[in-house]
Order: sequence, then C-alpha cells, then structure tokens
Amino acid sequence: MKLLEDRIKRDGTVLPGNVLKVDNFLNHQIDPNLMYALGGEFKRLFEKEGVTKVLTVESSGIAPALMTGLQMDVPVVFARKHRSLTLTDNLYTATVYSYTKQVNNDISIDKRFIAPDDKVLIIDDFLANGQAVQGMLEIAKSAHVAVAGVGIVIEKSFQKGHQMVLDAGVRLESLARIASLDDNQVTFVTEDE
Ligand code: 5GP
Repeated sequence: MKLLEDRIKRDGTVLPGNVLKVDNFLNHQIDPNLMYALGGEFKRLFEKEGVTKVLTVESSGIAPALMTGLQMDVPVVFARKHRSLTLTDNLYTATVYSYTKQVNNDISIDKRFIAPDDKVLIIDDFLANGQAVQGMLEIAKSAHVAVAGVGIVIEKSFQKGHQMVLDAGVRLESLARIASLDDNQVTFVTEDE
C-alpha cells in the first residue's frame, strides 16, 4: 500500500536487532486518518470472507484493528497480556514470546467474547517471527472459530512469520512488506517477488 510505504520511508527509523521504529504514527503517537485508511484496505481485502469479529493483541494491534472493525462494522476483541495466568477457567489462553521485549507473555480472551459461530480476522501491527499471530491462531483453535485470514500492517518478510502463517494454511495480507532493514535502510519487497 503506497500510502503506508511512503509514511514508513518518511517517518520510520531502523533500530539495532532488525526493529523498525514507527512510533510517530503507529506505536505511540497514532495517525487516525492513516489507521482509517488501513482499515479500509483490510475491508477491501477481506469483505467477502464473512468476518464476524476482528481479533488482535494489546496494545499496538488495537488501533489498526479498531479501524478495521469500524470499516467492516463488526466488533473488535483484543487479547490481554499477562505475566502469567493462574485462573483460566473462563479464558482462552496462549503463551507468546515477545519479539521486541524478549519475554514470554500469556495472552487471553474471555470466553464470552468469542463463540464457535464466529469467523475472525486477525489483525496486528507487525509480523516478525509470527509468535503473536501463532498465539491468536491457537486461541481461535481452542475456541473452535473459523479464521478468515491474517491482516498485518507491516511485515518483515525476511523473518519467519510470513512462512509460518502460510504453513498454517491461513490467508495472509500484509499492507507493507519489508525485504530488508540492512544498513539502516528500509527496502520493500517489490511487486514481482
Ligand atoms: P512476532 O510475534 O511476529 O515475532 O512479533 C510481532 C510483535 O512484535 C508485534 O505485535 C509488534 O508489537 C512487535 N514487533 C516485531 N517486530 C517489530 C518491529 O520491527 N518494530 C516494532 N515497532 N514492533 C515490532
């Protein structure tokens, strides 16, 4: 998506460890107009899939997920992060290793907010090694809900997550695909790759 790629080029900075910092439009300060446009693009891509709910993980997934839910006119549920969970009877849970924080988090969704007749669209801000998406896929499996697909704002295509989602047999749509962050430069995957 050209609008997003242009914004990444303009405002993104590359940090050590293959981390792209985009905290002035996505991860700290948020540009609502851009988020609304991203939501519109996810709607265009997934509107024929019968999505009943958008699923994400707090906190950085919430902004794009919310705008997708607004555009598609469906509720948005975000998984909550915990250090570790003890009482889990009313929750669907999964353990997720955080790429940026390098710690394990348990994530959970209250069973009241996801039902077997739901078809969920999983949205997240970044796809790196795919742990966050994998956790949400696990929750979807435990809840016996269908997954319409995974929508990612920024995919780092040189890391493992892309293949992991495809191997799971799930449709993946990423609005910006980064081929490399080498030499502190953002290089996008070109159309024919
Ligand atoms: P994964 O679980 O796919 O390894 O990583 C996904 C999560 O890690 C995202 O939800 C995001 O919060 C964070 N993340 C991974 N890579 C980056 C990055 O390059 N920049 C930022 N800002 N967050 C990242």
